[in-house]
Amino acid sequence: MHVIHFAAECYPVAKVGGLADVLGALPKYQRQLGINTSVVLPFYDKTFVRTHYLERIYEGRIYQGGERLNYEVLKEKDDLLGFKLFLIRIPGLLDREEVYSYPDEQVQFLAFQHAGLDWLCNAKMLPDIIHCHDHHTGLIPFYMEHADQFDLLKGTPTIATVHNGQYQGWMDWKMAALLPAFDTWRWGLLDWNGLINPLAALIKCCWAYTTVSEGYLSELYQEANGLESLFLAEKDKAYGIVNGIDTELWNASTDSMLAYNFNLVSIAKGKKTNKEKLCSDYGLNPLLPLIVFIGRFALEKGADLLADSIRYSLAQHEGEVTFFILGSGDRSIESKLVELSENYSQHFGVHIGYNEELAHQVYASADYLLMPSRVEPCGLNQLYAMRYGTIPVVRATGGLKDTVKDINIYDGYGMLFDEASVEAVFGAIQQALSFWKATKKRELGTLRKKIMKLDFSWDKSAAKYIELYKKLIE
Ligand code: ADP
Repeated sequence: MHVIHFAAECYPVAKVGGLADVLGALPKYQRQLGINTSVVLPFYDKTFVRTHYLERIYEGRIYQGGERLNYEVLKEKDDLLGFKLFLIRIPGLLDREEVYSYPDEQVQFLAFQHAGLDWLCNAKMLPDIIHCHDHHTGLIPFYMEHADQFDLLKGTPTIATVHNGQYQGWMDWKMAALLPAFDTWRWGLLDWNGLINPLAALIKCCWAYTTVSEGYLSELYQEANGLESLFLAEKDKAYGIVNGIDTELWNASTDSMLAYNFNLVSIAKGKKTNKEKLCSDYGLNPLLPLIVFIGRFALEKGADLLADSIRYSLAQHEGEVTFFILGSGDRSIESKLVELSENYSQHFGVHIGYNEELAHQVYASADYLLMPSRVEPCGLNQLYAMRYGTIPVVRATGGLKDTVKDINIYDGYGMLFDEASVEAVFGAIQQALSFWKATKKRELGTLRKKIMKLDFSWDKSAAKYIELYKKLIE
């Protein structure tokens, strides 16, 4: 069986968030289960493409509106990532430094999808399944069924995975002129409330859709940024399959990004040594419990709740706790956090920016990971944290609810809170601090070992996707 994944991100080629982690791992694990997997990605001007041998395997052209766009398909020669990686390069349009946020982003992703299918048809590379991830690849199932030039792909089963339903790729109908010629009678499949909505088109046209946790699937029926009724109407073809993590990459005993590697036996020393390194780099006291946050500064992540809840905690528990935050995004959140860290320099460190290596070090160093997310389709941070012996303190939503079991119930190992408010986050921090005080070193060690041993690997979920592929092919 040959499965082609289309996506905008893939670790380590281009990463903005969890989408990249999934695309860097799922195809690899599927391959290990005997499936031939490929990933097709836009060619960005990133370190990976500059440092790897890419072979040009195809050259073609598409017309977007009246404009001719030449494209080439490059393949990473040695399948180093554990699957075949193909990059679509369109000079001037796709070969830029960033993955998102250009003013012509819609034009970029339209061209990517168009060129991708053009190549598959002309090169007669006809897979058994096409798997599309998020709105950036949302028009593919529509094109395959309703644009004549992709006739060769008609009838090929398609799967959509919704990693984040908040972003839908909306565009004005004027943009329709840039699409490949399609059966205009079918325009309604592209439309949602008077706009072209690629995520809506994806859900309408795919053969099956999945969400990255079961909890998130049921939440989408109630809150999906306007698409609730669509998700509900198409629910017969919906499946919740929780994300896994790449346990080869996220392995505390071999992770080259850590100051000190550790395993289940050396966990106490490992956590302590890594924490000392982080705290010494940021001038923090390493003897206190360390609570961290890693992620985008967005409302979705509850990042706006951090500054005030940390301020209250530091005021009320002076000298009892330290915080560290790694992230970037909303400028006003960034400046509030920086200002607060300047006022509490020994107890609160902030690193504004994206830094993969530092993220690994932070997961390994922390005692608690805080995630006050309003929306969390799956959430990978809590899984990485647990893998490195860090206790998750998370809001009970989406994938967080599915993967973290509260410590107050039988067999629990994390802390859950309900509301996305400063008071609730402050309350959760207080709970974490009380637990810290009341817990003996040995009990803490047992809990850390327990969470490190939890199985969040891709094995089960990769197999579930394969079952679904088989079902569709049959
Ligand atoms: P998202 O909604 O942002 O995709 P996920 O929890 O699914 O959230 O995945 C986030 C991924 O991005 C994790 O691998 C996390 O470690 C990483 N990450 C987020 N922010 C940063 C940052 N500032 N620096 C390094 N890694 C980050």
